[in-house]
Formats: sequence, C-alpha cells, structure tokens
Amino acid sequence: MNTVTRPRILVVGAGFAGVECVRRLERKLSPDEADITLVTPFAYQLYLPLLPQVASGVLTPQSIAVSLRRSKKYRTRIIPGGAIGVDLKAKVCVIRTINGEIVDQPYDYIVLAPGSVTRTFDIPGLTDHAFGMKTLAEAAYVRDHVISQLDLADSSHDEAERAARLQFVVVGGGYAGTETAACLQRLTHAAVKRYPRIDPGLIKWHLIDIAPKLMPELGDKLGRSAQAILGRRGIDISLGVSIAKAGPEEVTFTDGRVIPTRTLIWTAGVVASPLIATLGAETVRGRLAVTADMNLPGHDGVFALGDAAAVPDEAKGEEGAVCPPTAQHAMRQGKHVADNVIATLRGLPRSPYIHKDLGLVVDLGGKDAVSKPLGIELRGVPAQAVARGYHWSALRTNVAKTRVMTNWVLNALAGDDFVRTGFQSRKPATLKDFEYTNSYLTPEQVRAHVDGSERQD
Ligand SMILES: Cc1cc2nc3c(=O)[nH]c(=O)nc-3n(C[C@H](O)[C@H](O)[C@H](O)COP(=O)(O)OP(=O)(O)OC[C@H]3O[C@@H](n4cnc5c(N)ncnc54)[C@H](O)[C@@H]3O)c2cc1C
Repeated sequence: MNTVTRPRILVVGAGFAGVECVRRLERKLSPDEADITLVTPFAYQLYLPLLPQVASGVLTPQSIAVSLRRSKKYRTRIIPGGAIGVDLKAKVCVIRTINGEIVDQPYDYIVLAPGSVTRTFDIPGLTDHAFGMKTLAEAAYVRDHVISQLDLADSSHDEAERAARLQFVVVGGGYAGTETAACLQRLTHAAVKRYPRIDPGLIKWHLIDIAPKLMPELGDKLGRSAQAILGRRGIDISLGVSIAKAGPEEVTFTDGRVIPTRTLIWTAGVVASPLIATLGAETVRGRLAVTADMNLPGHDGVFALGDAAAVPDEAKGEEGAVCPPTAQHAMRQGKHVADNVIATLRGLPRSPYIHKDLGLVVDLGGKDAVSKPLGIELRGVPAQAVARGYHWSALRTNVAKTRVMTNWVLNALAGDDFVRTGFQSRKPATLKDFEYTNSYLTPEQVRAHVDGSERQD
C-alpha cells in the first residue's frame, strides 16, 4: 500500500547545485508540503576548486569535504549511493547504494545535479594510465603518487629511472590543469630540499594543451601573465600539443616528443555525468537540454542543472549560448531551481535563470595568482587575496571555513611535511575506478529493470 501522500522531491547529486537546491527547499517548504530525498555516494559536498591545494598538501582532504549533516535543521532524507538510471515514464530513479544493493526510488519531482566526469578521448593507453583531478580520492592519490616518485627516484640507482620518475605531465590548460600543474610544481620544488640525493634540475613539469592559449577566458594579457609565472618556475608549457599515446613508463606527445614519465595527469575538460545518457532525452554535447527555467521539455516535474545540464545563458543573450560548467553557475542555479520546483508544486509560474558571469580566479600557489573579478585584471598578491577570499566565502559552513583558513595559515607558517599516507597504494587507480563511469545502465536496461520491478509488485 502506498502510504506517501506528500509530493516526493528527489535530488540527485550533493555538489554545488544539489546542495544549494536541497537547503533552499528545506528552508522554503514546510515539512508537510513535500518529502525531500537526496541521493549521493558521499556524505559531503566537495569544494572542487580547492582540489589542487589538497593534491599539493596546502589543505587536508577533510577541509574541503563539507558535511551534509552539520546541522540538526537539515531534514532531507539521504540515500547513500549513486543513481544509475532514470525512467522518465515510470518516474523512477534506479540507485545503487554504497553496499551494492539496487533500489528503485519513485518521485514526483526530480532534480538532476550529478555534475560531470573527466572527458577523455580515444587516445591509446589514456584511460589506463592517466590520473584525473575531479574527486577527493583522485587528489589524495595524486599527492601520494607524486611524493612516491620522489621517494623512489631517491632510492633508485638507475639513472634513467630516476630521470623518468622526476618528469611529470599535466594535460589541460584550463584553470583546473593550470592550477594543478602550478600547485604540484610547488610541492616538488619544496619537497626536493628534503631529498639530498636528488638533483633538483632533474625535476621537470610539462603543461600541455591542444588550444593555442592557456585559460582563454582570462583574456590575452592575464593568460600571458599566468604563462610567464609558470615559465619562471620552470614549468615547460606546450600549446597546440596533445597526447598521441600513453604508456606505463612514457607518454608520446602529438609533436613527436616521447617523455619518459610515470605521471600523467589528465584535466582536459569535463563531460556530463553518464547518468544523463540513461534518460534517452535530448542533449547538447552530452549535457541534458533544458529550458531557461531548467525544466526538461515535455516533463513538468523534471529539472536539471549544473555541469550535467545545458542551461541557456540568458545573460549572454546569444542564440544557443549555454552556461559554462562552473561552480559559480551551479550554486546559483541550485537556489533558482529550488524556487522553480516550489513554483511548479504550488501551481505558480517558473522563472528563467539569468546570471552574469562574475569572472575567474586562478590560484597558482604561494603569492602567485591571476584573477579577473568583474572584468578587473589582477596579478600577484591582490589576485591571490581575491581568489582565496572568494573560495573562502563560498564554503558553506563555518567549520569548513575555519578548517580551510587554519590550513592556509599553518601551511604559510610551517610549510609541508610531505607525508605519503599510502591509504590507496596497490588499489586500482584509473579514471573509471575513481569516477565510477562504468556503473550506469543503458536506457533499455533502465526500462527493463523498472518493468521487471513493477511486475513483481
Ligand atoms: C580542479 C577543479 C577546479 C575548479 N575550479 C573552479 C573555479 O575556480 N571556479 C568555478 O566556478 N568552477 C571551478 N571548477 C568547476 C566546478 O567545480 C564545477 O563546475 C561544479 O562543481 C559543478 O557543480 P555541480 O553541482 O554541477 O557538480 P559537482 O559539484 O561535481 O557535484 C556533483 C555531485 O553529484 C554526485 N554524483 C555524481 N554522480 C552521481 C550519481 N550518479 N548519483 C548521485 N550522485 C552523483 C557527485 O559525487 C557530486 O557530489 C573546478 C573544477 C575542478 C575539477
């Protein structure tokens, strides 16, 4: 017997978009008005823009994992697991819980905010040998891996092996890749002083991108400033270049160079979560095609936002423009979509999402940064103050703010201990292991599964 009388709102994903949405629903809806449920594989909201600082050891992993259970006021029911398919016709979300059970969750309204995964291409060896920078586990793994290369190079008597372990390749000249290369270079530069047997001149970081510019969204002048800062630090930047082949002990660039290395970090863009493909609905370059009010056309109770959805960029006013996949948009869309869900539930009109981009901040570690808040170009300490101030204020809880600030102060005063934790050693560490990209059903499998479950009831 169905005892549920209140409308059921299901939010998928506890990232920037999902958490903002849930918190607003909790605030604006009375408990009698609707049941709110959140599906999330992790018990935290990850503050992704600070991942490179976790990888480089400036911040501890816990400090950017913002608790979903911090307050007694949070009343949303949490299902610990990942959605692996959505049947729009039956209004059922299929979930694999963290203990491997498959459960069906019926809904009246669904908000899809599962974010994105690392975008890969059909490059031989890439998915087997590259590491990403998209999850907390990946950032912690990369940190351990980089420190282990110093440890192994230090203990090796083989010159070629030592040289290979001390070369590092980062692919992707967007803000994620640039910050990752910049922060990790600072890590190895500082760490090598504790390894008297290693010649610091052997450490070489490569940052490559197929595009002709680093971070084109910064504009020419700031992009060149970022490039100059990285160049001064000895990071070798190659533009118009990608990877032709990746192996366990070397990477081949498209310009023919073969780099002996054990470290390939791949940050060349993102693609919507594979969950979106399970809907069998229209997409724009993989992101779910939604209207400006973030609704799926033809499905009144279905909403999507953040990295997973192609939300029209009304502020740009250009035909076909969609909001870029940034935390800035995801957070604001999260609040806005909550208002639209409530409007739909109450039979009121929905409103379009309109937000003018506030700019970009890029933390290159230490005093190095470039920022463009509201179109103003900043470099060095002022840019760093804006970058850190922006991230700090965007952290959701006071405890998370305190942890991050304490970590920053401690790191500035006492530096890094270069501890390799070993938590993830000898575990599979490919992109799909970290990002669970092969856990999803096909649209046909979703239908067959839901049909089967309905027949049993
Ligand atoms: C290294 C890095 C640096 C960045 N720097 C910046 C920056 O400086 N400024 C900026 O604006 N943006 C930045 N971004 C981009 C920004 O982080 C994303 O655009 C933003 O996180 C998107 O928000 P979202 O809510 O759509 O997805 P996310 O924040 O990724 O959240 C998605 C959530 O859904 C969960 N999930 C995934 N699949 C499922 C599933 N099947 N079922 C249930 N839950 C699921 C995930 O675990 C996650 O919690 C950066 C990204 C990276 C990787």
